[in-house]
Amino acid sequence: MSSYWNSRVRKLDPYTPGEQPRDRKFIKLNTNENPYPPPPGVIEAIREAAGEGLRLYPDPSCLLPRLAIAEQYGVRPGQVFVGNGSDEVLAFAFAAFFGKGAGGDDNGVPLLLFPDISYSFYPVYAGLWDIPFKTIPLTENFTIDLSSYHVNSGGVIFPNPNAPTGIALKAEEILPVAEYQARDNRVIIVDEAYGAFAGSGPLPGKGLLGAESLVPYTDRHPNMLTVHTLSKTASLAGLRAGFAIGNKTLIEGLCRVRDSFNSYPVDRLAQAGIAAAMADAAHYAETARKVIATRERVIPLLREEGFRTLPSAANFIFIRHPEKTGAALFAALRERGILVRHWDRGRIADFLRVSIGTDAEMDEFLSAARQITGRGK
Ligand code: PMP
Repeated sequence: MSSYWNSRVRKLDPYTPGEQPRDRKFIKLNTNENPYPPPPGVIEAIREAAGEGLRLYPDPSCLLPRLAIAEQYGVRPGQVFVGNGSDEVLAFAFAAFFGKGAGGDDNGVPLLLFPDISYSFYPVYAGLWDIPFKTIPLTENFTIDLSSYHVNSGGVIFPNPNAPTGIALKAEEILPVAEYQARDNRVIIVDEAYGAFAGSGPLPGKGLLGAESLVPYTDRHPNMLTVHTLSKTASLAGLRAGFAIGNKTLIEGLCRVRDSFNSYPVDRLAQAGIAAAMADAAHYAETARKVIATRERVIPLLREEGFRTLPSAANFIFIRHPEKTGAALFAALRERGILVRHWDRGRIADFLRVSIGTDAEMDEFLSAARQITGRGK
């Protein structure tokens, strides 16, 4: 604590991202990055943008990436907002739609709702913007209990598939929540960071659109925003690129926050990279299917070793071993050069979240897991 900090900063409980080690070579299965590189066309487009043009500010409205995204996702450019990673898009969305005055009622202080086990950045944004919230426990099977979101609220947010469980809901199951929340003009945000890995991946000809995506329902549900990232499916975590799709007035709300914060959060390189990535959607759909195939290969092998795994529709799996604590498994894997994610918290303290790497990386992980559980050589 420092007395230089104002009371807002003193109260913050910041998010801790997964480790990005520099000292030693690890097999990195801790931040859900894509193990495959982006296609050469995307790197080429970024290289081209890294020229003299950098003298100039980027387009504040991100028109080119928005046009490319709109075409790929079958929406209008006015229904797309682009930001510096989906974390920034989420931060803007919390500032725009939740908290005091949500739903146009300046007197109420309604509670934002999200699952107790979910993306751990949500409570951090709520803290940053002073948004009162209530967490709703996942069911015993670690699924989101949608019936609990049919209540008056200050808005709703959850990822689909959920993180870190990896469990996906069907699009049609979520829509009634959007309808319920629309009665009081409350916004529902569905964070589709891992959407392209649901089911057997994006359908051929569907670009990057995940099987359970709510994007096709955008016109019918004006209070629903979906949030997307290029960090996972598009192998561009290092570029920081994310976007939201929703009705025009939601997008305008996001622009109002952005233009009160930083008019140019998406630099020229990122804008070029995003537009090029959209043109390569077929490549990414293929990459997603490769990740899914590895995931489906690894799960039964882990079960043979006595691990319990939740059904994953994401590019990670959430696993535990009945005879080992999460902390012990995490430490033993780290010692063997394998980084995974562990939260020392309540019901998930014995779980590990393991990102899906290449087949070779996952074989190393499996062999380390076998050694640790006493079955390996
Ligand atoms: N949403 C969820 C559910 C995530 O797990 C992540 C990745 N940590 C993000 C959003 C943010 O992704 P990015 O900022 O890289 O777009």
